[in-house]
Amino acid sequence: MTSSTNLQKHQYDAVIIGGGGAGLRAALQLAESGVKVAVLSKVFPTRSHTVAAQGGIAAALGNVAEDKWLWHMYDTIKGSDFLGDQDAIEYMCKNAAKAIIELEHFGMPFDRLESGKIYQRPFGGMTQNFGEKPISRTCAVADRTGHAMLHTLYQRNIRANTQFLIEWFALDLIRDADGDVLGVIALEIETGEIHIIQAKTTLLATGGAGRIFKASTNAFINTGDGLGMAARAGLPLQDMEFWQFHPTGIQHVGVLITEGVRGEGGYLVNSEGERFMERYAPHAKDLASRDVISRACATEIKAGRGVGKNKDAVYLKLDHLGEERINKSLPGIREIAKTFANVDPIKDPIPIVPTCHYMMGGIPTNIDGQVVLEGNKVVNGLYAVGECACVSVHGANRLGSNSLLDLVVFGKAAGDHMTAAIKQNNTHKTLPQNAADATLARINRLAPNNKNTSSTGENVAEVGDAIRDTMQNHCGVFRFPDDLAKGVSEIDKVAKRVKNITIKDKSLVFNTARVEALELDNLIEVAVATMHSANARTESRGAHAREDFAERDDAKWLKHSLFYKEYNRLAYKPVNLKPQTVESFEPKARVY
Ligand SMILES: Cc1cc2nc3c(=O)[nH]c(=O)nc-3n(C[C@H](O)[C@H](O)[C@H](O)COP(=O)(O)OP(=O)(O)OC[C@H]3O[C@@H](n4cnc5c(N)ncnc54)[C@H](O)[C@@H]3O)c2cc1C
Repeated sequence: MTSSTNLQKHQYDAVIIGGGGAGLRAALQLAESGVKVAVLSKVFPTRSHTVAAQGGIAAALGNVAEDKWLWHMYDTIKGSDFLGDQDAIEYMCKNAAKAIIELEHFGMPFDRLESGKIYQRPFGGMTQNFGEKPISRTCAVADRTGHAMLHTLYQRNIRANTQFLIEWFALDLIRDADGDVLGVIALEIETGEIHIIQAKTTLLATGGAGRIFKASTNAFINTGDGLGMAARAGLPLQDMEFWQFHPTGIQHVGVLITEGVRGEGGYLVNSEGERFMERYAPHAKDLASRDVISRACATEIKAGRGVGKNKDAVYLKLDHLGEERINKSLPGIREIAKTFANVDPIKDPIPIVPTCHYMMGGIPTNIDGQVVLEGNKVVNGLYAVGECACVSVHGANRLGSNSLLDLVVFGKAAGDHMTAAIKQNNTHKTLPQNAADATLARINRLAPNNKNTSSTGENVAEVGDAIRDTMQNHCGVFRFPDDLAKGVSEIDKVAKRVKNITIKDKSLVFNTARVEALELDNLIEVAVATMHSANARTESRGAHAREDFAERDDAKWLKHSLFYKEYNRLAYKPVNLKPQTVESFEPKARVY
C-alpha cells in the first residue's frame, strides 16, 4: 500500500497549478527572474479554457476614442454592482494599458486599425466619461483573442525555461500545523503514480467551474479543482452565489457566441421581430451589462415571446453586418454557428439562450495574489490568480473582456510577490509526516471494485448529472425562494452520494475514469458553496437575482460572503470601497 513516506518527492521554488492565461503569466514572471518554477496542468497548457476566449481584453488605450483608466474603473465598479473591491479594481484598470503593450511585445498578434495602432471594439458596460456613451475599449485578435494570448504566453515560457508537468492532476494542498502551504500532491495521469511536490510558494490558477451547471459555455475540464483543494484545506470560498450567465449561448449546446458580435453591431430580437433590449436598457441596449441582458432574454421567453418550436430561445441577428465584415471580424463565430446551430449568420439569426459562463467568486486573495483569511491574515506560501481567485475585481457581475485582463495583471503581480518571497527564504519547511494520508485515502476509495463499496457504490456520470440538474433547476438566472431552500437540501444529499462513488467496471478503469471521479470531489464543493451562499443572500445584486428580494440592499448586504466547508458555515467581510489614489465611487442605482 502506498503511504506518505514512500511517494516520489520533488522540490521547486514555485509550483503553479494551471497552465491557462493566469498560470502562464505568473510562471513567466517567475522564470524570467531566475526562479525554479514548475507548471502543472491536467491538460496540455494550450488546451486550457483561456484558448476559447473570443471577444477580447479591455484596456483604456484610447486608440479609437478618448479614454481614461478612471472611466474603465468606474464601469467595472458599476458592472460589479458595487461589490467589487475598489482598490483591486483601481490596480487592474491602472495597469491594463501596460499589460496590453507587454503582450504586444511578447508577440501577441493584435488586430490593427488603419493607423497601425491596436484595434479596439465596444463591449457591454464599457463607456466613455462615466457612463455617457459606449466606448471601444476591448482589444482583440479577431474572435480568437484567448487563443492568441495563450499561445503567446506558452511560447514565452518555453523560451524562459519554465518546467511543465503535463497531464498531471493536482489533488490536494499540503498544509502544515502552522497553516502554511508547503506544496501539492499530484497524480501523474499516464502512470497513475502519486507525487509530492514541495515548494516555497504554491499558486492556484485552475480556472473556472462552470461545469456545475447543465447548460454551460465552459470546457469539460472547468471543474473547480483549485476551489475543491482550497475547501478541503479548510480555506473559505468567497462570493460563490455570483455566477454570470452569458446571454448568448447557442440553444441546446451552450457553445458561446461572443459579446463581440453585439460589439460589432449585432442585436437581439424576439418572436415579434422586436429589438427588445431597447425596452430594458434604453441607452446601452444590446451593450448593457450581461446580467441585465440575460434577465431580459429570460423574461422575454417567459412572456411567450421566445422563438423556435418551443418558444424557448431568442434570436441574435447579425446578417445586416454583411458577409465581408463577418468574415473579417467574426470568422470563428460564423463557423461555430454553422456547426452547432446549423445556421449561417450571414443569412439567418442564431437561436440563443442565457448560459452559465463565469464564476465571479473564488479563493479570496489580496492584490499580490496571496490567499487571505478573515481579518486579511495571509496564508503563508499560498497564492491564487485567474478565474479560481476572487481578488475581487468582478464583484457581483463581471464585464466582458475584463477577465483576460485580470489574468495578466494579477498573474504578473503574484509572480512578482512570489519571486520576492522566494528570494527572502532559502529553505523549505519540513513536510508533515502524514502529508498525503487523507489524499491517499480519498484515492484508494476509488480503487476498481473496492470491496467496501462496490455493491452499493454510486456511478460518476449519474452523480455528476445530479449536481448539474440541481444547480440548473435551483440556482439559475432568476432565483426563487422555495427553489433555493430545496436546492440546499438537494445538493447536500448529492454531496453524500459523492462520498460513495465507485468505479465498478474493471474494463473501464483507466486513469481518466479516476480523474473524472476525482473532479466530482471538486465540483461538489463548488456546488454546495454556491447553493448555501445564494440561499443566504436575501437581496438581488448583479448576477444574483431573487424573486422574493428584488432590490439591492446595501444597508444589509454590501459585503462579501465567505463559505467554509466545515459545518457549511457562512461568514461575511466588508467590501473595500477605498481606492488607493482616487476618490471612492459610492454605491448608487445601476441603470444602463
Ligand atoms: C467560451 C468562453 C469565452 C470567453 N471569452 C472571454 C473574452 O473574450 N474575454 C475575457 O476577458 N474573458 C473571456 N472568458 C473568460 C476567460 O476566458 C476565463 O475566465 C479565463 O480564460 C480563465 O483563465 P485561467 O487561467 O484562470 O484558467 P484556464 O484557462 O481555465 O486554465 C486552467 C488551468 O488549470 C489546469 N487545471 C485545472 N485543474 C487542475 C488540476 N486538478 N490539476 C492540474 N491542472 C489543473 C488546467 O489544465 C488549465 O491549464 C471566456 C470564457 C469562456 C468559457
